Amino acid sequence: MPSRISPAWRRRLTPPRTLPVPVDLIFEKLEPRYGPIEWRPRYNALDELIFTVLTQHTSDLNAERAFDELRRRIPTWGEVIEADTRAVADAIQSGGLANQKSVRIQSILRVVLRRHGALELEFLKNLELDEARRWLTELPGVGPKTAAVVMAFALGMPAMPVDTHIHRVSGRLGLIRKGTSADDAHVVLEKILEPDDRFGLHVLLITHGRQICKARRPLCGECPLEEPCPSAGTFG
Ligand code: SF4
Repeated sequence: MPSRISPAWRRRLTPPRTLPVPVDLIFEKLEPRYGPIEWRPRYNALDELIFTVLTQHTSDLNAERAFDELRRRIPTWGEVIEADTRAVADAIQSGGLANQKSVRIQSILRVVLRRHGALELEFLKNLELDEARRWLTELPGVGPKTAAVVMAFALGMPAMPVDTHIHRVSGRLGLIRKGTSADDAHVVLEKILEPDDRFGLHVLLITHGRQICKARRPLCGECPLEEPCPSAGTFG
């Protein structure tokens, strides 16, 4: 039977045949600098999901302020569902896009309650990774990155969240093919990485992207991966 996936799309979801910078070498070079890496949950899974919605298009600091204010004004998720949407938007003003996010948060909570019968998501850790991802991405406005954050950070599941830093650094290191979108990079990186390496590599690449492999002017001269990196010194 012919495949329903176009060759171009399949190629984007296929890891490069050989990695110019092997994953072990990335750990060897970056862990002494940014480690040690420890997994500790920040929030329970439903809190993490709502917090991640609040982080969209703003900083973590603003999202934290919005999250704390929402919890202070409307302490339970059941009450958030019942609250006037304007009251939710007022509480999360500091997170930006309050009108859209308030609607989205209430929709997510309603759907979680309808599908699962309770306002909690810890049950997801008993599912297979792909099943948990599917459950989450079927919620309104929840994409692969948000789902992976909830799975990796709150549930300790071996998902690989790909944000803008990880997408950029992975591309420069040749872990993903040119033109691979951030959403597709979740799939590719999970194929490359052993489950136990995913959280660690997430933390290392995001930190490296913020500190050295910056978007505009990467500091290749200070980078411990300069020698093997195929993009080193290509930024003019
Ligand atoms: S050598 Fe430059 S482009 Fe490559 S990972 Fe390091 S900072 Fe990024």
